[in-house]
Amino acid sequence: MGDLESDKGVFMLEQEFREIYEDLILDHQQDPRNFGPMANPTHRADGLNRSCGDLIHLSLKMDDDRIQEVKFTGSGCAISTASASLMTEALQGKTRAQAEILAKHFRDLLIGNVPGDKPSTTEPVDLGDLQFLSGVKQFPIRVKCATLCWHTLEAALNKKLDGASSTE
Ligand code: ZN
Repeated sequence: MGDLESDKGVFMLEQEFREIYEDLILDHQQDPRNFGPMANPTHRADGLNRSCGDLIHLSLKMDDDRIQEVKFTGSGCAISTASASLMTEALQGKTRAQAEILAKHFRDLLIGNVPGDKPSTTEPVDLGDLQFLSGVKQFPIRVKCATLCWHTLEAALNKKLDGASSTE
C-alpha cells in the first residue's frame, strides 16, 4: 500500500512537471524573449538543425568577459524557439565561463548521462526554468531542437567578431 501511495506521488509530480513544461514551451514560443536583430554584436553564430529545419541566428554583446546582451532571430519549431528564448534569459549578465558551464549542464540534462552520473563540471549550477526542458526527453527526436541554441552559443563564444566593420 505504501508503494501504491509513493507511485501516485511520483505520478503527480510527473503530471505537474509536464504541465510546467508545456506552459513554458507555449509561453516562450508565443512570446519569445530577446527575439530580434542586434546592432553591433561582438559575437555571433548561426545554427541549423537539419532533422527539424530549425534555424537560429544568435548575437551576443560582451563587455570584457560578461554577456551584456543576447538576442536571436530565425525560424524553428516551438521547442527550438522556446529553448532559445529561455537560454537568452538565463545568459543575461553571465560571464563566459558561467555560460559555458550552463551549456554543459544543460546538455548533460538532455543528452545526459545516466541519473547519478557525475556532471561534466563539479560546480553546482541552478538551471532555473531550463530544467523543465528536460521534459523534451520524452521525444528523443526533439532533443536536437532544444540543444541547437546552446551549440550555437558555443560557436558564437568562440567566434569573436572583428571590431572593424569592413573586414573581408
Ligand atoms: Zn525543431
